[in-house]
Amino acid sequence: MENRKIRTIGVLTSGGDAPGMNAAIRAVVRTGSYYGLKVVGIKRGYNGLINGEMEEMSPRSVSETLQRGGTCLMTARCLEFREPAGVARAVNIAKVFGLDGLVVIGGDGSFRGARDLSNSGLPTVAMPGTIDNDISCSEYTVGYDTCLNTVKDAVDKIRDTASSHERCSVIEVMGRAAGYIALEAGIACGAEIILIPEKEFDFDDDILRPIFEAKSRGKKHAIIIVAEGIGGTLEMAKEIEAKTGIETRATILGHVQRGGTPTVRDRVIASQMGAKCVDLLLEGKMNRIVCMRDGRITDVDINEGLEMTKTIPEDLIELAHKLSV
Ligand code: ADP
Repeated sequence: MENRKIRTIGVLTSGGDAPGMNAAIRAVVRTGSYYGLKVVGIKRGYNGLINGEMEEMSPRSVSETLQRGGTCLMTARCLEFREPAGVARAVNIAKVFGLDGLVVIGGDGSFRGARDLSNSGLPTVAMPGTIDNDISCSEYTVGYDTCLNTVKDAVDKIRDTASSHERCSVIEVMGRAAGYIALEAGIACGAEIILIPEKEFDFDDDILRPIFEAKSRGKKHAIIIVAEGIGGTLEMAKEIEAKTGIETRATILGHVQRGGTPTVRDRVIASQMGAKCVDLLLEGKMNRIVCMRDGRITDVDINEGLEMTKTIPEDLIELAHKLSV
């Protein structure tokens, strides 16, 4: 299958939605069309592949999508696809619909599915679309910048009320098991304390003491950004209030972080990565992950990419600590 000429490609979005997925779909459809390919949109992630829910897309079917959050192809989680029988069914349906290649836009879980499809003979290229920035082989994931800006807007607003009431605010942000959103949003918003799963913390030394120190230095509020991977945000706020005597409120930002019009950065990177996926399929470079490395859009083998590990930048942790005085 690897050497056969590519005439028809499919595109799907899978896992959690992220702003910029539409920009990526648009880039796949229009780049494909530019090169004379037939591009088929697959609905609801791997569910649509298994159930044959797909339709041909044209450059016009992605008009007016660039500025919209979410994904016009819809997204879903698909349990059946995690079983070998589900993957085999998907490969078979892809054959029935004449797909010579597939572009998967999603996160880490979706990449594992893409790897299974690749290994089962369907040439597949994946690109990172997730707000979490938690893809090991890529410095950047589409949706991250929009999410950070949403968090920034929310925290700036919470800060106004926290300062006026001289409160402590504990704000939980998304990121699954990763702390990138918390760390960068924390720096952007001047959080006094940032708690991420990658770094152990001690309640007395890393939460209570900095709050008392901030107060004695004349700070009117304390903003604590907590990554969702830490958990227990509501209880933490109660414990802080009980132990400091400072009124403390918890806010869980939740799904507001997933929505909204994508930022310029997300639109441009999604466009570059989507186009690169099509280029790779046309070059016969299958089974790849399109990613950002050293600031450039490039690609890695899907199996190798999934084995890589990503570390949280220690210099940013250090910076956040220095600037919180
Ligand atoms: P994300 O892609 O955002 O990480 P999920 O982890 O929910 O989201 O994965 C999306 C879909 O990818 C799942 O519903 C499933 O169909 C498929 N998937 C997830 N993990 C695996 C896996 N280990 N092997 C095969 N397919 C997987």
